[in-house]
Order: sequence, then C-alpha cells, then structure tokens
Amino acid sequence: MTAPAAANLFGDPDDRPAPPVPTRTATRFADIVFDRPLDHAYTYAVPDHLAAVGPGKRVEVPFGRGSKPTPGFCVRVTDQPPARDEVKAVTRVLDDDALVDDHVMKLTRWMADYYLCGWGQVLHAVVPAGVRENAGTRQAVFVEPVGTDRLPNPLPTVSPRQKAALEYAKEEGRPLELGRLARLAKCGPGVVAGLVKKGLLRKFSERVESQNPPVATGGLSEEVATAHSPAIELNPDQVRVWDEFRGALAGGGYHPFLLHGVTGSGKTEIYLRAIEEVVRQGKEAIVLVPEISLTPQTIERFRGRCGNLAVLHSHLTDAERGAYWRRVAAGHIQVVVGARSAVFAPTRKLGLIVIDEEHENSFKQESTPRYHARDVAVMRARLEGIPIVMGSATPSLESWANAGKGAYTLLTLPKRVEDRPLPPVRVIDLRHEPRPAGKHSAIGPTLEAAMKAALRDKGQVILLLNRRGFSTHVHCPACGHVAQCQNCDLAVTFHRARAALVCHYCGWETAPFQQCPACQQAIRYQGLGTEKLEVEIGEKFPGHVCRRMDSDTMSKPGSHQRVLDAFRDGLVHILVGTQMIAKGLDFPNVTLVGVVNADVGLHLPDFRSAERTFQLLAQVAGRAGRGDKGGQVLVQTFTPDHPCITLAAKHDYAEFAARELVHRKEYRYPPYERLARLIVRSEKAEAAAAFADQLAGAFQEAIKRVTADAERRDATGTRPPPVRLLGPAECPVYRLNNFYRFHFQIQSEQSAVLHEVLRTVLAVVRPPSGVEFQVDVDAYSMM
Ligand SMILES: [Zn+2]
Ligand SMILES: [Zn+2]
Repeated sequence: MTAPAAANLFGDPDDRPAPPVPTRTATRFADIVFDRPLDHAYTYAVPDHLAAVGPGKRVEVPFGRGSKPTPGFCVRVTDQPPARDEVKAVTRVLDDDALVDDHVMKLTRWMADYYLCGWGQVLHAVVPAGVRENAGTRQAVFVEPVGTDRLPNPLPTVSPRQKAALEYAKEEGRPLELGRLARLAKCGPGVVAGLVKKGLLRKFSERVESQNPPVATGGLSEEVATAHSPAIELNPDQVRVWDEFRGALAGGGYHPFLLHGVTGSGKTEIYLRAIEEVVRQGKEAIVLVPEISLTPQTIERFRGRCGNLAVLHSHLTDAERGAYWRRVAAGHIQVVVGARSAVFAPTRKLGLIVIDEEHENSFKQESTPRYHARDVAVMRARLEGIPIVMGSATPSLESWANAGKGAYTLLTLPKRVEDRPLPPVRVIDLRHEPRPAGKHSAIGPTLEAAMKAALRDKGQVILLLNRRGFSTHVHCPACGHVAQCQNCDLAVTFHRARAALVCHYCGWETAPFQQCPACQQAIRYQGLGTEKLEVEIGEKFPGHVCRRMDSDTMSKPGSHQRVLDAFRDGLVHILVGTQMIAKGLDFPNVTLVGVVNADVGLHLPDFRSAERTFQLLAQVAGRAGRGDKGGQVLVQTFTPDHPCITLAAKHDYAEFAARELVHRKEYRYPPYERLARLIVRSEKAEAAAAFADQLAGAFQEAIKRVTADAERRDATGTRPPPVRLLGPAECPVYRLNNFYRFHFQIQSEQSAVLHEVLRTVLAVVRPPSGVEFQVDVDAYSMM
C-alpha cells in the first residue's frame, strides 16, 4: 500500500527530541534518517563505546516525544556539534558493515529530493528486507590457535582430550566453528571452551550464511561461468554499433547510449560483448530487464560468457535475496541481472549498466519511493562515471527526445540479423470483416484462415489479446445496469475458471449472478477476455494444442517456463495471452502472430495510450518470422487508420515518434514538460474534495510566488518557464478501493521550478485526518 499521506513531508515533525546529553560533552555526531516521510536528518551524539557508527549502517536511536527506540540509517558522521544545547544519543549499532556505499548513498539522496520523499524511506526501500534483517545468516562462534608469539608463559597443562582438540585446530590452518571442532575432535564443547580459557585458542564470533551456497530456485538464481559459449559473428550494423560503444567502454566516464534496434536485430549480442569487456577490466555490470523477461531463455544468453551471474527475481525469498546482496557486495558476482530493484545492487566496481526494453512501464515503481529505474540508472551511471546503454525496438519518447537533443548517443540497428526481413503486417478492418451468421466470434474469417494455413504448414501461432478473464462486460440490456466492484468505480470481469466476478484493481470478487439486481431481467455476459478466446480456439481448432499465458495462469513460479518449454518443443501449437506473450520471446517456428483486438488500451484517458499501443503492436509483431520459414502478422482493429496502427504495420518507429512528439509538444506533455501528479484521497468524498480545493489554492499561490522570486533573482529579466496547474478533478477512476480520489497535474518545462513549487507547498500543507495525498513525480499511471 502507499505510504501514509506525505503529511509532514517538509515541515517540522511534532516530535522533538527529549532532553538527553548536553551537546558540549559529545565529540562525535551522527545524522540519522528514518523510514518516514521526513525531509531532513536528525543529529544524535555518538557515545565513545559506539565508535562503529558510520554512514550506510543502521543504528537504533530514541525518536520522538516518547523517545521510542527506532531504527534509522546513519547518513553522516561529523565532529561538528549541531547548533543546539542538547542532543539524544545513539543507543545501538545494528550493522557490522555499511549496507550501502558512498555512490548509492548519493543516489538515494538524489532520489529523495527528486521524488519528494524521505531519504530514510528511500534507503529502506533500496536495501532488501533480507539484508536489513540478516535473513539467511546466523551468528557463528569460531576458534583458532593463538599465535606462538602470544602464547601464555608458562604454557598451561592440557588434558589428553584438549590436546587432541588443539591438534585438530592446528591442522585446519584456519578458524573453525567451535561446534565443528568439538565434533571433529569427538569431544564436548566444554573441552574447547577450556582451551580458550587457558589462552591456547582464540574465540571470536562472526555472521555467516546459514546455507552455503545459497539455495537456487528453479535453477534460475545463479550460474557460475562454465564453458564459454562462442560469440556470434557480428553483421555490419552490429560492427558499427559495437565500435562506437567499445570506445566509450575503453575510455570510461559517464556516457549514456540509446540503442534503437528493431526486433531480432541482435541487441543482446552488443550487451554481451560490452559485459565481457567490462568483466575483463575487472569490473562489474548491472543488467536491468523487465521482470517478465527474466526467463531461462534470457538468462541462458548471459550464462557462460560473463563470469559469475546473479539473477534477482521476484520469487527469491528474503534469505536468498539477502545472500545475493552479500555475495555481490563481497565481489563474488560480476554480473547482476534483475528487474527494477537490481539498479541498487551493491557492486564494488561498477563498470556498466544495461537496460533492456527501456520503454517498459514496469521500471516505474508505483509505491513510495515512486522512482523510475531507468532514470535512477542514468543517475547512478553519472555518479559512478560509467557508460550506460538503454536498448529497445520502441524507445520511450522521453529517451528518444533525449537522443534527439544529444543528451544520449543514439545507436541504431535498423535490420534483423542474418538479413531476415521484418514480417509483413496486414491490418484487418473489423468494421468490414464478414461475420458468419449466428455466432459472434473473436477470430474473424481472415485471421481464422491464416491460422489454419500456418498450422497446416507446421508453423506455430501467437495470439495477443490484452485483456484477461472470460467476459469483460457484465450488464443488463433492459435497464443498463453494469456489474461493478463494491470498492471501485470499475466494471468487474467474469472469470469462468474461478466462477467469480473479479475487480482487476482491488481484487474484490463476488459470485456471478444471472438476474439483474436492479430490474430482475436476465444479465448478459459480453466482452472478450483471453479465457473466452481460449474456448473459441478450442472449438475452431480441434486437434491443436492451445495454452493461455496471462497473470491468471502464470501466478505460480515456473508456470511461465513450463508453457514456454512446451511451446518451444512444439507440443503447444497456439499460444494465446496478454502482453505477457508480446515481449522478448524468440521462437523461430512462429509463422503467424495475430492481434485479436488492437484497440484495447487505445482509448484510455492517458496521454501515453497511443505510445503504449504502438509499442505493444510493434513488440508482438516482432515475435513473427524469426526463423527460416518467415512469418506474417495479422492485426484486427476497428480503427485501421489510427497512426499507431498504420505505422506499427510498417514497422516505422521513427515516423510514429515524430508524429506523436508533435502532439506532445502541442499539448505540452512529457517529454516537453516535466509532470508531477498529486492524488488526494479519502473515504469521505467531501473531505477529499475540500482538501483538493485547498491544495489547489496553495499551489496557485506558490506558483505565483516562485515565478515572481525567479524573475526578481534574474537580473536579465528573462522569465522562468511557466508552471501549469491542471485540476483538481476527479481521477479517471474516481472511487478506488473505497477511496474517493481527486488529482491534479503540475507541469513545467524545468524540473527545478516544478520542484521548487512542490517543495514550497509540501512544507506548509497538512491534510486533515482521514485525508491522504501522494506525490508522483514523472507519473506513468494516470488512472
Ligand atoms: Zn436491469
Ligand atoms: Zn475494486
């Protein structure tokens, strides 16, 4: 769930440190931040016996009025006393080693400033729970023989059992766990303890992994380099791109690249060479991919060419995640592959960051801190002074615009490898598609004929429908009643396998009904989801095996892989699914890709809907014709003239981007203006509305003041870029999860001005109790 209101984000909290030690009696001070929406650090005295306090470690301190013991991150240690007579003192140090290094410390500071949340909240989110709680480790007691120069004089006498145990300890040549030595010497722990007491063994304790090596899940978690798989020979485009990129790797320094390569153009080979090069230099690489692409197929390509690989995916337990974090931090891992949060991997000598499918929305986190992993990665590369490469067949317009103005270096791979053509795309106008009498079907005659032909020729078929469930529209034709979620302003979807009407946003579900609750007439189940499509395929293509991939069928770890393996082995002929099947899959025998309804998602109230539709179509089209048999794509649509459909059909990203950017500029949307979205929500509609109005007033004021100040500061008389306030208005989904929601957007060409306005307002406004608000800088979700 989201963090509680950003209430006291930039004000002084109500809690004041209780009176503890006089400041003048202390010599060292530590600045501590907490997992709360607070904008500044708190200074504590460091007692002499806690010399281990240091930046990046957690400590326990008394916090707030009640001086409640509270964990926090130390962000700075200084001998400069704060301008206050008294400070509280640190009570405990919680970590032996710093959990984040200097670079990540700076990165999290930047994130807190940019995404307008507490520094402590960011640190808390960045360091996995398994690391914070030392999951997967235990405190172990070791013993080792005392060096000859430090032996007691005269030597104490020992029992025969003690003598035997001492011999074992000496033979081992390195520290042994006390219990293990006792087992080896077949004696009780008391015998070993006696040796310690007599000064012949030294005892110390250390935190160790409970399991070594850590357990791998599904063979996906870690691969140690085995045989080197041979590098593929590069085509001329790849050679050109690689030459340019290699220069940046050799030279070092911050250098961002946007690698625009059509589907199947061999972007991964470029990444692999770059990673090999970095590993050869004794450095490490981080590779970010969307969670959905973390398939063994992807991992397989990195395996064996790049040193020790760690894969951070969402199915890892806290203990496994903790174990990998520590292995990366210890320098045992050269390449970290993972989704969003892998951008924070505690590498020691980072040499390169790769972001594949950089346009993917899943890189944006939708809870505090609401960061975008691509943007954070670019900042990390800048702080560490290293190259970063962002790759995509359909780059985000933000990155494309950055390349256009020279902020990123553009590299292009315009052709597929081995001179394979991009598949021809046929657009089928559903308005004119004949409908066989009687039955409404999702697969029109043209698509059906193409599927039959493809299957007859032993090809395989991928069908995309980006809507899950069975019936997506449950309504009463007599009175117009639509089955809705109890908690949200949203229609529910009928899921046949679960025999339930389900809200896709909050998860609420109810038993399906046959009679309209309003007028008692018969309810109609209409609208098409993947579950119903699967049934239709079963009827139309008996004798062919169809499997469905969507978040309903793919919730169990490994289910994804089982279906893909079966598809690769030819045991499955038709793969149907949501956007999950559109991305990254590389199956040479797929000769037909069908898009059942390209218009899903096109008409959403979101300025990015055309961009997302284009990306999805281009990506799914890219699954066809990757082998010798070639292939084609059929797109069913009711809007065949929409540019995102006609241009996706021509594989013309550049033209689509150029046109879409004209719109964005006209309406002053990103990438031309920075945008922050604020959501006010409450279970009471009036309370939310009233606070939204109050907040809007505060923003109007702040905009005036900030603009006037900026003009006054600037002697040349140039006006700062304007800040626009749009709203407040009801959110497109007004009621969500029982909250009534209002939103606004604040926009400006300049992030600095935008942030100044936001900070000004956040410092003074407090929502009344029962009302919350969230700030989403560079928002992606507009619901
Ligand atoms: Zn009715
Ligand atoms: Zn709901």
